[in-house]
Amino acid sequence: MARPKILVVGAGFAGVGCVRRLERRLGANEADLSLVTPFSYQLYLPLLPQVASGILTPQSIALSLRRSSRHRTRIIPGGAIGVDTKAKVCVVRKITGELVNEPYDYIVLAPGSITRTFDIPGLLEYGRGMKTLAEAAYVRDHVISQLDLADASQDEAERTSRLQFVVVGGGYAGTETAACLQRLTSAAVKRYPRLDPALIKWHLIDIAPKLMPELGDKLGRSAQQILTERGIEISLGVSIDKAGPQEVTFTNGRVVPTRTLIWTAGVVASPLVGTLGAETIRGRLAVTAEMTLPGFDGVFALGDAAAVPDLAKGEEGAVCPPTAQHAMRQGHKVADNVLATLRNQPLKPYEHKDLGLVVDLGGRDAVSKPLGVELRGLPAQAVARGYHWSALRTNVAKARVMTNWLLNAVAGDDFVRTGFQARTPATLRDFEYTDAYLTPEQLHEQTASAAHEQG
Ligand SMILES: Cc1cc2nc3c(=O)[nH]c(=O)nc-3n(C[C@H](O)[C@H](O)[C@H](O)COP(=O)(O)OP(=O)(O)OC[C@H]3O[C@@H](n4cnc5c(N)ncnc54)[C@H](O)[C@@H]3O)c2cc1C
Repeated sequence: MARPKILVVGAGFAGVGCVRRLERRLGANEADLSLVTPFSYQLYLPLLPQVASGILTPQSIALSLRRSSRHRTRIIPGGAIGVDTKAKVCVVRKITGELVNEPYDYIVLAPGSITRTFDIPGLLEYGRGMKTLAEAAYVRDHVISQLDLADASQDEAERTSRLQFVVVGGGYAGTETAACLQRLTSAAVKRYPRLDPALIKWHLIDIAPKLMPELGDKLGRSAQQILTERGIEISLGVSIDKAGPQEVTFTNGRVVPTRTLIWTAGVVASPLVGTLGAETIRGRLAVTAEMTLPGFDGVFALGDAAAVPDLAKGEEGAVCPPTAQHAMRQGHKVADNVLATLRNQPLKPYEHKDLGLVVDLGGRDAVSKPLGVELRGLPAQAVARGYHWSALRTNVAKARVMTNWLLNAVAGDDFVRTGFQARTPATLRDFEYTDAYLTPEQLHEQTASAAHEQG
């Protein structure tokens, strides 16, 4: 008898958590295990702002999927672009562009999320995200190039616009990005004697009335105070009305001359979710506490792409927030539930009490709330870095990150602009492949033609 096929989509916190657990617990001939992933690494996203600001090298947070010969999963290099749940086939676009149909008996959907955008004129053209390794590397080069170009320019208006930077999104991703990049420019400007440091201005804006509401009032205010003292201008209750190549207009009518708009205003589930035609909650697949998809045989979903009930919260309708903390643990639980299904055993629900939040604002600045304890300054920074360091999956990644931190603390940054991506089309859509997915008709055609060929 053919072995059952388990197909995992996405090599992030959730997908890799699931695959590694299955590798350890599946019997040698119990099932075939495959993983669809466009990249050969798992990205440790919480440290992305530190890559953008040059504290860490990109490689140090890209954890290899092929670190050990014990990893027996077949890795399919590409992205899933549609799932036909009736035919039990996942359509994959390989990195060569070729479409292949991957049949499955059990599919685990963990494609994560993409940057959430709105219908704001100019946003898709001029906004840059902070969600992929390429985006972080691009933003770093872009920011350094603004200093280089401002330094070389004789035009006062050009200098002003190149030295202003706007970050939209006062959640932890936007706040950490603004904080880390502001430290980058304030350190870098010392190497540009012709530039007036007072011209450099960072803006952090959010439509919400508070920064990082998850931190609570006191800690949120502390974070705001730290950033304001460092010269970051925070505007709350404000968003973007339109964006252009040389200026951004806020919803309060203010026009800021800038060539840098970093957009981190939340995430939405991967567009892959839409190809299933299943029920969603705010765009995330509406799964059970066991992470199965009701009415769809053999489908599991988790992480940022799924609305997993938050049983630990004890409130009706509560779902787990889109965090790495949950995604990784859901990965382990889903692996157990796939195994239980294979072995005709009962499935178990996911339940995890949130451990809190750590926010690294660069240098000695941080705010953290581990297990409800409010920390600021060095203790908060120690907890933030200690938490991320211990959560890195491999020892080699731990060694790389620690070495980078030490090197940066001792020798600082050289503010090198690599130019690798200078000619890259640099929109959110290009970086996050948001247009790669099949419509229901295309999906049906693709799986039907393959079935016909096989028949
Ligand atoms: C800047 C930043 C800072 C953050 N800081 C924190 C933090 O401090 N603490 C915390 O808990 N969380 C943090 N998060 C959130 C956290 O990173 C996410 O919640 C977590 O990564 C979700 O895990 P996931 O496995 O669902 O998705 P991801 O980790 O995003 O993984 C999804 C994977 O699927 C791949 N993929 C996407 N589409 C497809 C497809 N169609 N086919 C195949 N593969 C696909 C992607 O390339 C990716 O590798 C942060 C996020 C960002 C962006």
